[in-house]
Amino acid sequence: KPHENPVDAYWMPFTANRQFKKAPRLLARAEGMHYWTPEGRQILDGVAGLWCVNAGHARPKIVQAIQEQAAEMDFAPPFQMGHPKAFELAERLVQLTPAGLDKVFYTNSGSESVETALKMALAYHRVRGEGQRTRLIGRERGYHGVNFGGISVGGMVANRKMFGSLLAGVDHIRHTHDPARNAFSVGQPAHGAELADDLERLCALHDPSTIAAVIVEPVAGSTGVLIPPQGYLQRLREICDKHGILLIFDEVITGFGRTGTPFAAQRFNVTPDLMTVAKGISNGCVPMGAVFAKGSIYDTFMNGPEHLIEFFHGYTYSAHPLACAAALGTLDTYADEGLLTRAAELEGYFADALHALRGLPNVIDVRNIGLVGGIELAPLPGEPAKRAFSVFLDCWEQGLLIRTTGDTIALSPPLIVSKAQIDEIVGTIATALKRAA
Ligand code: PMP
Repeated sequence: KPHENPVDAYWMPFTANRQFKKAPRLLARAEGMHYWTPEGRQILDGVAGLWCVNAGHARPKIVQAIQEQAAEMDFAPPFQMGHPKAFELAERLVQLTPAGLDKVFYTNSGSESVETALKMALAYHRVRGEGQRTRLIGRERGYHGVNFGGISVGGMVANRKMFGSLLAGVDHIRHTHDPARNAFSVGQPAHGAELADDLERLCALHDPSTIAAVIVEPVAGSTGVLIPPQGYLQRLREICDKHGILLIFDEVITGFGRTGTPFAAQRFNVTPDLMTVAKGISNGCVPMGAVFAKGSIYDTFMNGPEHLIEFFHGYTYSAHPLACAAALGTLDTYADEGLLTRAAELEGYFADALHALRGLPNVIDVRNIGLVGGIELAPLPGEPAKRAFSVFLDCWEQGLLIRTTGDTIALSPPLIVSKAQIDEIVGTIATALKRAA
């Protein structure tokens, strides 16, 4: 039973984190585009749970796959062992990735995928006799999960400040978010590719032959839906190539159809060396993540004849049978319904609906690409994030789940969303924005 008095939540043995204490909200059931609360109130899902339920909730093929797998084989050790679905899934996944990214390493979350990719980059250089390449470069306003590597390369200072100094030799490209440039942009901003040249500044500062890898999200999600300027990711690719630095795309949010192609790498036509995914890989149904690697890179540290250094890495639950089954059911559902390109089909409609919010009180920017959108609000003086959070609470009362990141409202509905539901999402937010004024 939900607590009448939010303060009671402090004394529960389990406390869901991040602002749950202020006003506990419970979810009890989910199907398609909706959640239901324990009291039976229907909530439209505007964020695919947490950017992950791309095919919508409780999809039959995924449910069945998980149920059957649970009965057939619950667990298989991932070391020295394999199971058929892990191989079948890998074959199917690499059919979706950009050409060349044809090796898969399984993890259980986005954070683990990030740690794995960073370790792969270090191992790759070391095996090739370039052990001096130890520096890792992230980007300001990047988010790469909550483990030590991820918060080190991540650009959210708040995520780091409690934990002292983290990985040594990490630096950050200055962020691309410039409201003046992004303001009201439909798709990619036309200007600003030169912001990528900040990587050259870091190369000059640190000696590029000491840099192992650069990690960026093609579209930063958790720090406010920041869409790169045209040519920006290409420029990063060129600079990395020039200096022998590996480029990692963190596609935990953008992967599996969010921007209208299977991966954002394809949408932006830039192929990274390593690519991290999670969330949509298993439709959020069972925890799972993966790192995709170019074969030549992967083979260097994984299958090299000399095994100079063994890539000593992997999790108890890597390639978990339930996760593999869920992911296979997910890929079936994506394929049956054309979901990995549906965001491209709906992008225009979604953009028009979203950009109609311009001019409403406190809206200072609207951004979108594929089926991901950001509505940035002017912060209340001295109270950052408060205004957006009040919109979140109002939407919840109206029966809509959205997400806020600072003062930006983030939207990423399941890819099965209908046009009428897009209108409902935007209409509900409009009502909340007017009331929050
Ligand atoms: N990378 C990115 C780009 C993410 O958006 C997230 C989660 N939102 C993560 C990594 C971490 O994923 P997880 O929460 O599954 O560890």
